[in-house]
Amino acid sequence: MIGIVSRPEQRATVEEFFQLFKVPWEFHQEGRRYRVLIVTEPSAAPLSADLNLLFSPGYCPVDGEHGTEVLAADRGSHDLLRTPYGQLPIHTDLCLFRGCPDPIVETTRRTSAGYRVRSGGRTTIRIGFDLFAEVEHLLRGKQGVEHALHPTVEILIATVRRWILEAGIPLLEIPPVPAGFKFISCLTHDVDFMGIREHIFDRSLFGFIYRALFSYSLTDLVSGRASKKLLRNLRALLSLPGIYLGLTADIWNQLDRYLEIEGERKSTFYFLPYKGRPGDRMPGHAGEKRAPGYRSSRYDVQDLKDSIRRLVERGHEVSLHGLDAWCSSERGKDEFDVIRRLAGVDRLGVRMHWLYFSEESPRALDDAGFFYDSTLGYNETVGFRSGTTQVYRLPDCSRVLELPLHVQDTAMLYPARMNLSESDAFTLCQELISKLAIFGGVLTVNWHQRSLGPERNWDEFYLRLLAALDSENVWFATGGQAVRWFMKRRSVSFTRNSPEGTSYGLVSHYADGSGLPDLTVRHYTPDRDPGHPQASSDAAPPFTDTSWSGSGEITLTL
Ligand SMILES: [Zn+2]
Repeated sequence: MIGIVSRPEQRATVEEFFQLFKVPWEFHQEGRRYRVLIVTEPSAAPLSADLNLLFSPGYCPVDGEHGTEVLAADRGSHDLLRTPYGQLPIHTDLCLFRGCPDPIVETTRRTSAGYRVRSGGRTTIRIGFDLFAEVEHLLRGKQGVEHALHPTVEILIATVRRWILEAGIPLLEIPPVPAGFKFISCLTHDVDFMGIREHIFDRSLFGFIYRALFSYSLTDLVSGRASKKLLRNLRALLSLPGIYLGLTADIWNQLDRYLEIEGERKSTFYFLPYKGRPGDRMPGHAGEKRAPGYRSSRYDVQDLKDSIRRLVERGHEVSLHGLDAWCSSERGKDEFDVIRRLAGVDRLGVRMHWLYFSEESPRALDDAGFFYDSTLGYNETVGFRSGTTQVYRLPDCSRVLELPLHVQDTAMLYPARMNLSESDAFTLCQELISKLAIFGGVLTVNWHQRSLGPERNWDEFYLRLLAALDSENVWFATGGQAVRWFMKRRSVSFTRNSPEGTSYGLVSHYADGSGLPDLTVRHYTPDRDPGHPQASSDAAPPFTDTSWSGSGEITLTL
């Protein structure tokens, strides 16, 4: 059993951390014996466990006992911590140690941010930042763009797990991995546009014409692929009169194409609730109260009843692409209602148009009754804005869960964003996929509704991405399904059957688990000799997996 000694204001973050690192734990109770203590409040408890993980960016008595000098790291210095799982950025306060006995956490600038002391059969690992302060910062979606590719929360979890196993302490865990799969992938589509027919002599049309003709450089054109795309764009331009007259299929309506190429993989479509409303402007953006006019939808979702019915009948999810739900629970409720009626479902997810979000958004979404949000991703890059691959509860919320967004087509491929070549963008996606294969969780992709057609022509790329995911054995889930699977995992409680914490009863309290993959119950059996940690820097510690539907109670002995 892991005992936690944290500051009182950290309780909610601690509880959330152990929904992501799903192992038996409790807040430290006087008189109980723990094999592991995680401490962020050094004055509140003795370091009495077999393994004590002491996280604090300030001076602690243990530092003085071992003659270690504590130096505050410069906030702007960007020291990254080296871990076997990659480099770890720390966004909150960090201290470094000089003259410490057994340095174990080195930074990229060769200073030490952690050390180990062993005495009287006990091990203390002293780390120069506050674990729960850092996790809370990340779960608010505040990981800086420069650290986007680090799944920092997952690396922190993996590091804590590794220290426990290296100390020879066995561990029971329900990892974020559905039984029988490597990880989950949510294919999602923001429906910003539903037809070029709606755009006559406006900014979107002129942008389309310009990019259709001038997106490709001469070198692109020498290779056959770009010239094929240019030809496709020219054909699309010539077809515009037919489209406006209603004689030709609209090149910006790609719903059928998605149904065709996604096949049995179920995806999620986020529709804008109103035509012609730009919504309020994000705070901090210069200008008046309204967002720019071109944020408004040119389609009326009420005209799309048949398309929406078809998507729902085929098992896809239809949810809300929010305009003002991020800033007002009243307007959020209205927007919710529009899509709820059309989709014929009671539970709805939301992703905000242009990823609008503020400090108040979690509470507004909670009050409006959304099932989940999937806004926290980057517009300007790809990666882990909340530092995690997992569905989690937004800070200050009682209900709404966050399905973090990781990859956007426009972020990678638009000239004003990263402006990557398709091959560089694909390499980047593979890098993310390889991280998901290590840490589990869910990879959420936003491929905009119109992106398969001209002038973007990102259909070949999307097919390649699907093939890459297929080869990893992922569970393709809608946003709602992925969130439900995580809710099933969150509902599991561990009861200690023996005072030593060697036997546990597991119960899941989730009633809505039908049709979801089983949970994975992972039993780590480390080397019993803590003096010789077997896990060398790359080797994964040995474990056995059992799958569990979550019904009934099971007992597990360590
Ligand atoms: Zn949008």
